[in-house]
Amino acid sequence: MINLSFNKDNIKINLKAKICENTFLKKYLDFEYFTNLCKTGCPNYKTSWACPPNSPKFDDFAKGYKYSIIFIGYSTLKDDNDLSQVHTNLKNILTPMLVKVEDKLDGVLTSFGGSCSRCKNCAYINNEPCYFPNLMRYSMEAMGINLDLMSKEMFNHSISWDSNSKDKYCTVIGSVLFNDFQNEEYFKSIINNLFN
Ligand code: SF4
Repeated sequence: MINLSFNKDNIKINLKAKICENTFLKKYLDFEYFTNLCKTGCPNYKTSWACPPNSPKFDDFAKGYKYSIIFIGYSTLKDDNDLSQVHTNLKNILTPMLVKVEDKLDGVLTSFGGSCSRCKNCAYINNEPCYFPNLMRYSMEAMGINLDLMSKEMFNHSISWDSNSKDKYCTVIGSVLFNDFQNEEYFKSIINNLFN
């Protein structure tokens, strides 16, 4: 497993990454359950081409790709930190890494979570086709992956923290699907080149 930490824009980021076959990730897929959670609890439901009910099942999306490299980035919250701001900062800092890996591997990335924010108003609301279909990306949770279970089992990292604990942190999870196998050293060099 890749395990790195670095500082960027005054944020200390811990990064873990692991390569696996996409068939292995099917064990974390529960599309009906997680898209129903979106339906009942997320304001983005039915507002974007990238979110349920428009997002595909992960195994359909992964067809044609043998491997994924999963990235988990997390940062400790200080007392005055706003969780959603730290979440946005983490996504903004780490997304260029996914784009770089996607480009190098001729793969396709899944975003670091949340809805697609490329356009101010998603074309879906206007009943139009996606304005940037080549740039729009889905998150793993929008495709029915149980991120908490995956994170615990693959990375020994729980996404949610105990509210009584002082150890509060924010986690983002994204991945790149690809075919030509590369070892972890290859990915480390990409990450180091971007963040050191
Ligand atoms: S690229 Fe724009 S239109 Fe397409 S899903 Fe994202 S926000 Fe919607």
